[in-house]
Amino acid sequence: MKKILIVEDEAAISSYVAKELGFEDYETVVASDGERALQLFEASLPDAVLLDWMLPKLDGLTVLRRMKRAHPEIPIIFLTARDFVGDKVAGLDAGADDYLTKPYEIEELLARLRLIFRKCAHTQTTYQVGKLLLDSAAHMAKADGQVLDLTQREFGLLHYFMKNKGLALSRADILDEVWGMNFGGQENTVDAYVGYLRKKLASAGLSYLIESVRGVGYRLKVDENVN
Ligand code: CA
Repeated sequence: MKKILIVEDEAAISSYVAKELGFEDYETVVASDGERALQLFEASLPDAVLLDWMLPKLDGLTVLRRMKRAHPEIPIIFLTARDFVGDKVAGLDAGADDYLTKPYEIEELLARLRLIFRKCAHTQTTYQVGKLLLDSAAHMAKADGQVLDLTQREFGLLHYFMKNKGLALSRADILDEVWGMNFGGQENTVDAYVGYLRKKLASAGLSYLIESVRGVGYRLKVDENVN
């Protein structure tokens, strides 16, 4: 079941949209302001986001940029009551996958969602580095054929490493991407989680794949021998 985060400050609209999406077998999560939207986005990692533009606390464009920075693969449809071409351009430039102008017909929203999920089906969801395999659509990772039992955060971390294999990643970037901008955590959180991940990879003899890069952070080694 696909999960949709609805970001909308008008309760009448969000409850109507949530109900209609429910009829189509979507699971929904509702946030009524920009800050809450970012929290729920990180906590629930939805399959798509419907994002209103005019929001309390944090405007839709800022929310959009932060979401896209943290998880560019999650599609976002932004909804705007404004009908100015400039706003649509700003939204699309900030990474929105589609937009709808309010008021919109629920049928059109459903059609846009289907379109977005069809497009996503063609984007990359599997990654391989040597004996390490990750399928983000199935939310599964295997090391040398064995399924790794990873927490959501560990999975997110491994996903980020695999998307950026061979690149040195700073602790700050890892925090931003895996924990999100609003986490405000310490960089040693990254060290702790890299430790957990190495331990789990060690069972398949692959702990060496995550190397420390002095003065920077970490890198997922591209193992030439097996790739
Ligand atoms: Ca609004």
